[in-house]
Amino acid sequence: MSEVRLNHITGDWVIISTERAKRPEEFAVKKERKEIPVHVASCPFCPGNEDMTPDETFRLTGLDGKWSVRSVPNKYSALTLEGDVRKEKIDFKQVVSGVGRHEVIIETPEHNMTTALLPTDHIKQILTVYRERLVAFYEDPRVEHVIIFKNHGAEAGTSLEHPHSQIVGTPVFPGQVMKRLEEAIRNYYYVNFGECLYCTYILGEMNEKVRIVSENESFVAFIPYAAHSPFHAWIFPKRHGACYGCITDEEITGLAGILKDVLLRIYVGLENPDFNYVVRSLSTTESDSKYFHWYISVIPRITQTAGFELGTGMYINTALPEESARFLREVSF
Ligand SMILES: [Zn+2]
Ligand SMILES: [Zn+2]
Repeated sequence: MSEVRLNHITGDWVIISTERAKRPEEFAVKKERKEIPVHVASCPFCPGNEDMTPDETFRLTGLDGKWSVRSVPNKYSALTLEGDVRKEKIDFKQVVSGVGRHEVIIETPEHNMTTALLPTDHIKQILTVYRERLVAFYEDPRVEHVIIFKNHGAEAGTSLEHPHSQIVGTPVFPGQVMKRLEEAIRNYYYVNFGECLYCTYILGEMNEKVRIVSENESFVAFIPYAAHSPFHAWIFPKRHGACYGCITDEEITGLAGILKDVLLRIYVGLENPDFNYVVRSLSTTESDSKYFHWYISVIPRITQTAGFELGTGMYINTALPEESARFLREVSF
C-alpha cells in the first residue's frame, strides 16, 4: 500500500507511491551524451576568455599558479548591484527595489568536467569559495538572504555546459525559507523542548541506518524518510550550526569528500542525470541560532513535478527512500 509520509523539516506531506514505484535501476537516465571538449573557444568560462566575464570578485589558484576556481558577477544578474533598498506599500501592492548580488562561481577551468569526477582537493576549493562569497554577501547590509545553488543540465535549468554554480543575495527573505524556519522554531520551543529539530532528526536517521547513503566523521548523507522526489538526498553536518559561513577548513575537507561520494554514486548509478544542489543556510549574524541547522539538498532531476504538486504543495515520490538509499550505497566505482 502507498504511504503518505510527513517531512518534518519542510512540513510537507509526501505520497510514497508504491502503486507506481519503479525499481531503483529503472530511474537511470538512458540518454545519448555528446562528446564535450575540454576547452571551447567561445565559452566565457573557459581559460583565455576571462575578459568575456565581468571583473572577478575572488579566485583560488592551483599548483600551476593559474586560477582553479573563480567568482564573477553574473552578466545576466537577476538583481541590480548598485542602489539602495526601497520598500513601498501602495494599496495592495508591496514592492522592494530589485537590488542585490548575483555571482557565478566557475568551478574548474575544464569545460567538460563534472563535480563527481573532480579530485576531492578541487571540490574543497569550490566549497571554500562558497564560504568566502557567502560571508562577503552578508557583509552587504542590503542582503537579507543568500542562496548558493548549482544547476547541472537542461532538466535542472541550465544550458551552459561549463561547470558553474551561482550565489544570489536577495533584498527580501524568501517565503519557503521562512516556512522552514517557522517549523524549526515551533519544534524547538514547543515540541522538542529546546532541542534542534534537525539534530534530533539526523540522529534518528543515523540510528535507523536504512536511508543512509554515505557518512564520515563530520557529515552524514541520507535519503530522507519523506523525500520529495526519487534519490533526493540531504547532506548534514553532524556539528550543530546555522550558517555555512562558519564551516571550518577541516569540515570543508569532510564535506568535499561526502559531496563527491554522493554525486559519484548518483553519476554512476543513475548514469549522469541532470541535478540541482542547494546550500540552505541562515546569515552570518544568525550563525548561533539554536533551532536552524544548515545543510545541502541534492536533487537528481529524473522525474517532473506537475499539477498535483502545484495544486497541493504535496509531492508524489515513486521511489521508496529505503530502496533508493540501498541502491546508492551499493553502487561500486
Ligand atoms: Zn568552458
Ligand atoms: Zn542542529
